[in-house]
Amino acid sequence: MAKKLQLSELEILQTLGTGSFGRVRLARIKQTGAYVALKILKKAEILKLKQVDHVISEFSILRTINHPFLVNLLGYTQDERYLYFALEFVQGGELFTYLRTVGKLDVTHGRLYAGQIVIMFEYMHSLNIVYRDLKPENLLICADGYLKLTDFGFAKVIEGRTYTLCGTPEYLAPEILLNKGHGKPVDWWTLGIIIYEMNAGIDPFSDEDPMAIYQKILKGKVKFPRSFDANAKSLVKHLLVADLTKRFGNMKNGVNDIKNHRLFAGFDWVGLVHKSVRMPYTPTIRSPNDSSNFSRYPDSTTLSPPVKRSDDPFLDW
Ligand code: AMP
Repeated sequence: MAKKLQLSELEILQTLGTGSFGRVRLARIKQTGAYVALKILKKAEILKLKQVDHVISEFSILRTINHPFLVNLLGYTQDERYLYFALEFVQGGELFTYLRTVGKLDVTHGRLYAGQIVIMFEYMHSLNIVYRDLKPENLLICADGYLKLTDFGFAKVIEGRTYTLCGTPEYLAPEILLNKGHGKPVDWWTLGIIIYEMNAGIDPFSDEDPMAIYQKILKGKVKFPRSFDANAKSLVKHLLVADLTKRFGNMKNGVNDIKNHRLFAGFDWVGLVHKSVRMPYTPTIRSPNDSSNFSRYPDSTTLSPPVKRSDDPFLDW
């Protein structure tokens, strides 16, 4: 259970990453000496960009979820300028950074990560939570090599369909671009993108210009490098399908079409959930506050303006 903290209980340290309304910084809980990743959101910015509903949804989802593959909310607080979410500190850095270092993954390694993403979505969808922002920046690597998903800023409880355009250009599903209404199947689309990316080292629909990315997505033609594993290719082709009635994950067998696909032949799903399967890569972590697996960010010196009590939608948290 996440508990309400006092700001004075925290010593706020270096930046680990940046997001849409602020940054995530390492922080130390003075009383216990434990380290947390403190997500700091600028209230003024949230109001200006009319994202209050998204932030309310993020907070309520963070308080609901409880799964070893999802980042856990430990505490929260606020002042007149910021909201603060204290998350468990996942020390191995972003999958994004790791992928840029190694280029691409071999098929067994990629399959272990894909399997964890399948389990993350299976769990969230069972709570009617659609994640909507899968990308390697949001997958963090734990000390044991397992992944944890972070950033629930676009996640939403959806029964049926919703219409807000959100996500990251390369990962947007065609139904989002066409504004047809979207729901859980967008997450299975993004699974297809990331399996492609892990195996090929590039995105399937990549371009410098976002408009060109959108055109490629809508055209739906996926080119596979020659070296691309045949089983991974087959599953990607079942996921990157515009027709929702034919997209794996969204058919009558649900997630089982994915779990039973031949990419996962002989895969130890139960061992994976219990973390008894060994991961091929474990990050180097030297101490409980080692943040060397994250990029370095210059410290921000400007304060976000305070929000008047009468304009503050978060006061009762
Ligand atoms: P977000 O604003 O939630 O997308 O987070 C921005 C970045 O902060 C992420 O891409 C990570 O680099 C870092 N980050 C977020 N959550 C954590 C966490 N729990 N532990 C360590 N780093 C994190």
